[in-house]
Amino acid sequence: MSLPVLIISINTFLNAQEDQEIVSDVQNRQLQNLHFSINQQIREIVLSYFSDAGRIIEERKNSFLLSWVKLDKDGSQLEHLGANYSFGEFLKQEDGKFSKEATNQIKIGSINDSILICRNYPKNELLILDKDKFLRNELIPVLFLNSNESIQLALKQSSVNRIIYQKKEFNSSAFYFEEALWVWPDIQLMIQISNNSLEELRQWKQTRSIVVISLLIIILSFAMFLFYKTYKKEKELSRLKTDFVANVSHELKTPIALIRMNAETLELGRVKEEKKNNYYRVIISETERLTHLINTILNFSKIDSGKKKYVFQAVDLNEKVELVLAQYEIFLDKNGFQRTVELDKSIQNIYADPNDITEIILNLLDNAVKYSKDEKRIRIKTFKKDKHVFLEMKDSGSGIADKDLSLIYEPFFRAENPLNQQTKGTGLGLSLVKEMVNACGGKIEVMSKLNEGTIFRIQFNNWSE
Ligand code: ADP
Repeated sequence: MSLPVLIISINTFLNAQEDQEIVSDVQNRQLQNLHFSINQQIREIVLSYFSDAGRIIEERKNSFLLSWVKLDKDGSQLEHLGANYSFGEFLKQEDGKFSKEATNQIKIGSINDSILICRNYPKNELLILDKDKFLRNELIPVLFLNSNESIQLALKQSSVNRIIYQKKEFNSSAFYFEEALWVWPDIQLMIQISNNSLEELRQWKQTRSIVVISLLIIILSFAMFLFYKTYKKEKELSRLKTDFVANVSHELKTPIALIRMNAETLELGRVKEEKKNNYYRVIISETERLTHLINTILNFSKIDSGKKKYVFQAVDLNEKVELVLAQYEIFLDKNGFQRTVELDKSIQNIYADPNDITEIILNLLDNAVKYSKDEKRIRIKTFKKDKHVFLEMKDSGSGIADKDLSLIYEPFFRAENPLNQQTKGTGLGLSLVKEMVNACGGKIEVMSKLNEGTIFRIQFNNWSE
């Protein structure tokens, strides 16, 4: 993976961690604030009992507030309202059984399972509460008021480690905040925020980061793949061009050497009159090979630079085939090629560039010859089918591998096989043939089997009988 993706991924991961910490921090503070506020509300309620104890005890007969007691400095009972309780040793122990966690105004103690004492310190007043009733009538309504769809509250009694109230099922495996109530330290208030928008935001950010990183990785992998393909193509092209130069040099050298040799022999005057024609023929045929090679390169350069000019006119296809065959006759005879020529004489003219038609036939014939080493049979055919005119070149040569079939029209492409290594060529012939066929609105097709032979079929759409 490339460096930028790695950096972005690490950065996004760290950001996600940071987000997670921020969200947890905010959530924690939110829960702490809520806890504080609920504690405050309960404390206010208890404080109000001190000032209103007489009336509450009087009016609410069956109230959770059982008794109010005024103490002197030593802690002995001075006066009381409601039930009279004997606290005995309990009151004398200054703060001994009172919770230190209470606020500076209220101190809490508990003398048995059912009674809770709140001490309004330092005024030395006591309230004695019925725990169960206080829980039901005072605490739970406060919790009820403070909870909603997203805030879950529960009460747990620490001494027995049991949840004694929960509005909905409290999910203790998820994140929650827990702390004792000021007025009743044995009771833990548990708060949880569900469907939290912050949590959703964090999750959304996390998902978004994952999607962004994945997309980046995909895009970068794709870019790297494209880069690699372009690089490979460029490398291949440069190799093909180097081969091309070597092949062209060879293609030039061979005919030039033959022409020179034959011309020198003739110049020496040692050739008998009746054999001179053979020498002239070799010179002409080699000159034609050179012309073909030069035409191929010039045509490629013109097509490549978009400067090729086409002159479309009526062309006698059969005549062109016969002309090219006549040019090649000596060569074909000398190399032992059997040929079958089947021309449909009802075809008069096709509409195309005459020079291109010659080049097309020459190229296909040249290839049929070049790539036939053992079986030297060639069939050239013209025919009509489904309102089209066809030119077909068939050989029984080496054939083309399936994997190469789609590549043979690429400029400079030459299949990599032993026969191709012995046979020189520019790799431009078929790419030119395809361009020229396309230019006159035709189509080229190839059918080939390795070691069995190849058929090139060209379809011309514009023609007259
Ligand atoms: P070249 O100058 O190499 O012949 P072409 O463009 O004419 O270039 O052909 C491209 C490649 O297609 C050849 O190198 C050869 O591998 C393959 N090919 C073309 N014609 C034939 C054929 N008749 N039989 C076998 N292979 C062929």
